[in-house]
Amino acid sequence: MKSSIKHLVIYLTLTVVFSSCGNGWKNYISTSIDKELGEQAQNQYDLMYKNEILDENKNKLLYDKINLIKERILKSGKVKHADEFNWELKIINDSVLNAFCLPGGKIYIFTGLINYLDNEAQLAGVMGHEIAHADNRHSIDNMAKQVGLSALISLIFGDGNGLINFAQNIIGLKFSRNNEADADKSAINYLYETEYDASEANGFFNKLLKDNEKEEVSEFLSTHPSSENRKEKMLLYWKELGGKKGEKFETNYKTIKSLIPKNND
Ligand SMILES: [Zn+2]
Repeated sequence: MKSSIKHLVIYLTLTVVFSSCGNGWKNYISTSIDKELGEQAQNQYDLMYKNEILDENKNKLLYDKINLIKERILKSGKVKHADEFNWELKIINDSVLNAFCLPGGKIYIFTGLINYLDNEAQLAGVMGHEIAHADNRHSIDNMAKQVGLSALISLIFGDGNGLINFAQNIIGLKFSRNNEADADKSAINYLYETEYDASEANGFFNKLLKDNEKEEVSEFLSTHPSSENRKEKMLLYWKELGGKKGEKFETNYKTIKSLIPKNND
């Protein structure tokens, strides 16, 4: 067993002994587990998308521009683990309308989503939402609830494959409605402290609802049924904060789209 995993095991043993089996597990589990799990899951995603992940050296300008969005969010002062997690961006050249962030801060964005959105503030909204899932530790919280004590013990006394199994759990994991609402709210909080227009954070849902006849969109909506409700809630929360307008960076966003390679070489 790797020494880093051993440390984790010792820590978890202590936390399981000292904490109850209630809902507050994530408060007792060190954020080192987020980072370990995120790295394990990242290895699997990197393998899964090895032909589609854009090479950072060959697509430096595109990465610089999307990384700048990430940095603005991380510097908002609202991301709790901004300095602690290893926030890292990978762009997947695929038409899928999606983005996700693994525990510990590994962000994946599909070019299909970049192409679909209208402006940089909308993309910042989606990135803020995904960053919030990691920052608010939703995966760890859900896993503690789903797999419970026995799975934690098998991780602790297992042969080291436990972490890999846990990482696979993350890949199949769906967030709860509460998690989604929490991430939506955090996205507004983050963007509100940046130069981006935080009211655009719901732009993705807005567009999805308008386009619900299109096949790829209706498929997305069937797995995210509460989009209408979420769109309105986000706007309401933005108004509660004071309704401050910001930048959409539409021209720069056109440049971002133009930097996406037509194929993956
Ligand atoms: Zn989400």
